[in-house]
Amino acid sequence: LAEDLEGLIHQPAETLDGHRIPLWVNTGLITDALRSRDRGAEGVGLYRTEVPFMMKDRFPSESEQQEIYREQLETFSPDPVTMRTLDIGGDKALTYFPINEANPFLGWRGIRVTLDHPEIFLVQVRAMMKASEGLNNLRIMLPMVSNVSEVDTALHLIYRAHVETLEEGFNVEMPQVGVMIEVPAAVYQISDLAQRVDFLSVGSNDLTQYLLAVDRNNPRVADLYQAFHPGVLQALKRIVDEARAEGKPVSVCGELAGNPMGAVLLMAMGYDCLSMNATNLPKVKSVLRGISREWAENLLNEVITMESGEVIASTLQLMLEKAG
Ligand code: PEP
Ligand code: MG
Repeated sequence: LAEDLEGLIHQPAETLDGHRIPLWVNTGLITDALRSRDRGAEGVGLYRTEVPFMMKDRFPSESEQQEIYREQLETFSPDPVTMRTLDIGGDKALTYFPINEANPFLGWRGIRVTLDHPEIFLVQVRAMMKASEGLNNLRIMLPMVSNVSEVDTALHLIYRAHVETLEEGFNVEMPQVGVMIEVPAAVYQISDLAQRVDFLSVGSNDLTQYLLAVDRNNPRVADLYQAFHPGVLQALKRIVDEARAEGKPVSVCGELAGNPMGAVLLMAMGYDCLSMNATNLPKVKSVLRGISREWAENLLNEVITMESGEVIASTLQLMLEKAG
């Protein structure tokens, strides 16, 4: 890991035995996008569209959204930009659209909100499509899916938005559509979900929170929020195996992908792409360039049978230190 991080910007994330894994970034504001480009990101795996919505005091209009999305798509063109449809609720609130619930993480959030308000969804998807005219590097991703019927309804709306966009005279291709895997039940429906869409992406932050029943933001139970809990690793392995069986690409866009030890395990499991905060990108790249895939697979085989998340985390730490 002696390589200078700055010098890595134009180097691929390639292991010593020649396995390449694209490193993408998570963005929210245009400044994130510009910074990510500078850090050598090869695409955007998660653009959190709720961030620009949170900066306003009312819902941005279709043309305002179009302008904001255009900046993101232009910054990364020709590389792909994965735009997640509005993911509010849970811990993400809009002052002008208050949601008051006793159990917000189990309530009205993500796709549940936008399918109940198809007008919000359609405006957003049309704005994304219009923004992609001439670039065609847009991918659309659906958050908090817990049922195949949500995907069917969302796809129906997306097709409708595409027809409307064409009718308005925009010349845009139908974007790829993907589903986030962040609800435990979705882990057991990977093939049903994968058959409906072009790609899957794991939201490991929410998936971990829901698998362990630990609020990701509650300091009192922070010790129990174990990214390397054996149950979490088994779920992650299952997702990639099942997605592979359907021939669909699968990435991780939660914080685990930006954790060097997490990135090593995810690469070993067979994930196609990792998307992370731009801050973590050079470090992850440097770690992946310093190991072989074979070494990572052996490490995965060793830790996946362990029964404690704490032991797994300390073993990973030790092994990575030893590797240099
Ligand atoms: C996740 O849940 O892992 C994720 C990427 O989405 P967010 O952190 O925005 O909920
Ligand atoms: Mg999430």
